[in-house]
Amino acid sequence: MNENANADILIVGSGMGGATLAAGLASTGARIVILERGEQLPDTSETRDARAIFQRGFYRPAETWIDGAGTAFNPGNYYYVGGNSKFYGAVLFRYRAQDFRPIAHAEGTTSGWPFDYAELEPWYTRAEALYQVRGALGGDPTEPPHSTPYPFPPVPDEPAIAAARQRMTRVGLHPAALPLGVDVGAWLKRAATPWDAYPDARSGKMDAETCGLASALSHANVTLRTGAQARRLLMSPDGRQIEGVEYLVGGETRVAAAKIVVLAAGAVNSAVLLLRSSERGVANRSGMVGRHFMNHNLSAVIAIDPRAVNDSVYQKTLSINDFYLDDGRGGPPLGNIQLLGRVTGPVLKSDLKWVPEAALNWISRHAVDWLAMSEDLPNPDSRVTVDGERIRLDWKRSNWAAHLALVSRLRERLRAAGYPVVLARAFDRRTPSHQCGTVRIGSDGAVAPLDPFCRAWDHRNLFVVDASVLSTSAAVNPALTVAAQALRVADHIARNHL
Ligand SMILES: Cc1cc2nc3c(=O)[nH]c(=O)nc-3n(C[C@H](O)[C@H](O)[C@H](O)COP(=O)(O)OP(=O)(O)OC[C@H]3O[C@@H](n4cnc5c(N)ncnc54)[C@H](O)[C@@H]3O)c2cc1C
Repeated sequence: MNENANADILIVGSGMGGATLAAGLASTGARIVILERGEQLPDTSETRDARAIFQRGFYRPAETWIDGAGTAFNPGNYYYVGGNSKFYGAVLFRYRAQDFRPIAHAEGTTSGWPFDYAELEPWYTRAEALYQVRGALGGDPTEPPHSTPYPFPPVPDEPAIAAARQRMTRVGLHPAALPLGVDVGAWLKRAATPWDAYPDARSGKMDAETCGLASALSHANVTLRTGAQARRLLMSPDGRQIEGVEYLVGGETRVAAAKIVVLAAGAVNSAVLLLRSSERGVANRSGMVGRHFMNHNLSAVIAIDPRAVNDSVYQKTLSINDFYLDDGRGGPPLGNIQLLGRVTGPVLKSDLKWVPEAALNWISRHAVDWLAMSEDLPNPDSRVTVDGERIRLDWKRSNWAAHLALVSRLRERLRAAGYPVVLARAFDRRTPSHQCGTVRIGSDGAVAPLDPFCRAWDHRNLFVVDASVLSTSAAVNPALTVAAQALRVADHIARNHL
């Protein structure tokens, strides 16, 4: 074992899970090394150039995965310091209290979590402080109990969005402020663009690099090693401990050893690392590593009113949860509705290549852009596997009828609110942005790879703290739950394993 042999804790991945865990453990004084395969996202003009981002795929990885039918595709899975959170919409929702219990959906009942909402609440509060969430209590009928208010007031609606809020209220809905991790003044100072899906060159987004990692690296005992891609875990001779991690840096293979190893490479790549590390897969007594892959059912819903003008820049400040707990008519839940970041002509052009950009700019000027999000239910046949060097993602989408019903409810209300044309388009496997569930926690090692504190049932010094640990996908954005769980695990490690 070489240069890193003295690390107490080795973390693979500097995204939402890894960076937040490091922040939670930094003050213990433990020697923490983070291996990150990406580099810091450079501050260039492309960061705010919609044509570069959406039309030319400037930031997409040079990586190909295959789907269940063997068809190759380029996934929107980003490898930079801070991970996918560099691109995120910074919506920092708590799961609803009901999400931790079994929920009866039209297509089946979810398993629930091995603990309830009250268990995670203190760490949600700490995660909201770390990520400086802007929000308001009281407006959302599904908001779970908060022990403290949001640390900052909500990001203001732009005038065109305040008007959209009124229109949606008039048709009986309850639009509420989206909880957001963004300093909108700082963001707009760099350039007047939305932040959703635009990379953050450290200009106002509260992401894993600017918050979690920045906090961790302010301690001398934490080291970040970039361009370091973990390849596999190395086991002790008796197979009970992880001795280290083999990783590639500058084309050279190295080994890092540590007392505790934490995977935080994202829900696809943490499963890949475990599966590549032994014939049967490490931490895989249950056979469940890579299974239960979930990714929300998402559709962009564009509401056009030729008489109205939407001159907003960022747009993304509203959420509607009227169909979250039931379908509004006493039937099963449908999901969350929230605004997308502003969809401009150049963004539309990435999908509608044959339409002149001037026409798309006209549509955009008269449109308000929504996102409909429905739960994807855990299914063991929906899975990540490895085929030599290739990653196979066989996503079996579930709960689709509920998603179509959500889009249909939204369409009805938008028409009633005076938008005569409503267009909808679903996101497909090329957008695994809300990936989760592949290395789940559970109370029984026979059916889940991790215990409720994210420790591998099979290996006492192995933890996983990214989106792969989520028992269910719920129907709200995952990052705050990943962060809260990472802080909870950090406290557990500090108390019991150092
Ligand atoms: C465009 C977009 C918009 C989104 N919007 C939202 C939103 O508004 N709200 C929300 O809650 N969520 C949003 N998400 C999802 C959110 O970003 C993820 O849920 C969150 O980042 C997951 O955290 P993670 O720790 O699991 O993975 P990540 O944050 O992706 O971190 C994984 C890290 O591991 C590194 N890594 C991977 N493999 C290796 C390896 N072998 N060796 C070393 N390092 C490795 C990666 O480079 C990365 O830095 C969005 C995602 C995208 C792409």
